[in-house]
Amino acid sequence: MADRNRHVLVLGAGPGGLACAHKLVEYGYKVTVLEKESFVGGLSRTLIRGDFRFDFGGHRWFTKNKSLHDWFLRLMEGQLVEVERISRILFNGKYFDYPISIKNVLQTAGLWTSFLCVIDYGLNTLSMALKKRKIETMEDAFVSQFGRRLFDMFFRRYSEKVWGRPCSQMSSDWVSQRSKGLSIWTALTNALLKPKDKKAKTLIETFVYPRWGYQEIPETMRRVIEKAGNRVVTSAFVKKVDVSDPSKVVVTYDKDGKSETVTGDYVVSTVPLTSFLTYALEPKPPQAVLDAAKSLEFRSVITVNLMLDTPQMTKDTWIYCHDEGLGFARLHEPRNWSPDMAPKGKSSVVLEYFCTKGDEVWNKPEAEMVEWGKRDLCRLGFVKPEQILGGFTERAANAYPVYSLGYLDKLKRMRDHIEQLDRVAIVGRGGTFRYNNADHSIEMGLVTAQMINGEVTKAAVLDINTDLEYHEKDMVEAGLKDGELVRPTVTGGAAKS
Ligand SMILES: Cc1cc2nc3c(=O)[nH]c(=O)nc-3n(C[C@H](O)[C@H](O)[C@H](O)COP(=O)(O)OP(=O)(O)OC[C@H]3O[C@@H](n4cnc5c(N)ncnc54)[C@H](O)[C@@H]3O)c2cc1C
Repeated sequence: MADRNRHVLVLGAGPGGLACAHKLVEYGYKVTVLEKESFVGGLSRTLIRGDFRFDFGGHRWFTKNKSLHDWFLRLMEGQLVEVERISRILFNGKYFDYPISIKNVLQTAGLWTSFLCVIDYGLNTLSMALKKRKIETMEDAFVSQFGRRLFDMFFRRYSEKVWGRPCSQMSSDWVSQRSKGLSIWTALTNALLKPKDKKAKTLIETFVYPRWGYQEIPETMRRVIEKAGNRVVTSAFVKKVDVSDPSKVVVTYDKDGKSETVTGDYVVSTVPLTSFLTYALEPKPPQAVLDAAKSLEFRSVITVNLMLDTPQMTKDTWIYCHDEGLGFARLHEPRNWSPDMAPKGKSSVVLEYFCTKGDEVWNKPEAEMVEWGKRDLCRLGFVKPEQILGGFTERAANAYPVYSLGYLDKLKRMRDHIEQLDRVAIVGRGGTFRYNNADHSIEMGLVTAQMINGEVTKAAVLDINTDLEYHEKDMVEAGLKDGELVRPTVTGGAAKS
């Protein structure tokens, strides 16, 4: 039976850490959350400039897990708007619908190119079957699912912008995690054999979103945790997690220039696993584990956030920009997610530039990044330079865990080390080095709380986000009920009270 008098230390106040703390508080545990930034939310943060609000890259809530979705609706009751999803891919100056549809490819790319894509896919499938080729790289995986021509059109350039290396140097795991079960063949058979009920709006076409920005999700969890008498300590950089005494965990952190310690019975870390092992954990892991941790990388993101003197720039939720002449990979217009993200009569845009900490892009000063963003945006032709009112940047170094070739063996070594520590659990995107969306991190946090409470095993946590089917395919009816959603006002611009 779990001892509910125990004190759990949660490192990091992103969605994963806060979900774990939130659930533990519901069970009656004492928790202390330590967060290095001055705000909660982690990568799921929302930046505020006057009446403008910008997510750190557009964040869509989506889960195939009905009970998680119901939990989310209860948590966010009264704070959600329903968003119509319209996403496009910009490739060689043409806009294609995303998710890709056969009809749209036919219309936009033309009959001849589409025909070549299908022939190419057929030949490729045949050749792979004859040669019995193993799928190892991201390129292999995309080509086997879509053929080389479609890979070049819709996947190669974008993936290379995001990961900063050729798809042949990335593991196929990312593709199987994101697009398992989808291929040109399934798209064709779905289009031809499964006519869509036009009246049924699925969660592919709409999603729910917190009216004042995605950070409202972690903020709501924080309020519940604190209301129950627990501490969420911000600006607290965790530098040491000492588990050498088998009866307790001692965490040391820097706060306001002073070093402080807190003692608990259990620690849940969402700190990037590579950092957690190399600088925080005491006793130090064996050299082989440290070597593995040092050799894994994260990709970084810089967002350029621009305020615009136009009521609406486009109707899009996201635009994926494959064109090599444009530095950013994706943009979103926050007012299309919730009208309250921009003041009345104005709009804004967030451009995502991928880089690696310390490289040329990462080292560019803010003013230079903003100018780059302005130039890139004007090249799309949606706004003129004089309509851009100003801008600023936001950065995250450990944003995307890189599934480089051979990463899995190293990761296993690292996770095995954690596995044998009785009082330590890892959760989250950086925390487990898994390409999680926020819903996966939240689910990991909730299941970790169940594990601490003696309801499930440690293995259940790492089962999350391992065997997903294609994100957009055959969405489950996720219990979206009328009456639980606040419909967006069309005019927008209300200041948050
Ligand atoms: C551009 C972009 C777009 C995205 N779009 C979506 C989307 O549409 N939908 C979706 O579901 N997800 C999306 N995501 C992913 C989502 O942001 C993450 O999955 C989610 O935030 C992960 O939560 P987490 O708690 O696991 O980690 P994080 O959000 O990274 O939180 C970890 C926390 O730990 C803190 N921390 C780290 N080191 C220390 C330390 N030493 N001491 C104390 N604290 C520390 C960090 O400051 C951070 O607050 C997107 C991410 C990016 C970058």
